[in-house]
Amino acid sequence: MGGGNAQKSKTAREKNLEKNKAPKGSQLDSNKKAMNIQCKVCMQTFICTTSEAKCREHAEAKHPKADFYQCFPHLKK
Ligand SMILES: [Zn+2]
Repeated sequence: MGGGNAQKSKTAREKNLEKNKAPKGSQLDSNKKAMNIQCKVCMQTFICTTSEAKCREHAEAKHPKADFYQCFPHLKK
């Protein structure tokens, strides 16, 4: 009877291992997908959580002569 319990907990542990493995892989995938902000002037990509202020920083630093919305037209309201 005791053996039966041990086997159950072993299975539970293996299931937990599988659970721990899965998010790591999917997180890598979502990190790749998250690079969906792109400067249209130099084609540099930014993670989707990049704030508008950071985009402005990039535009001002890299393309002082270009219009901010030329770099990031998606931020135009
Ligand atoms: Zn740029």
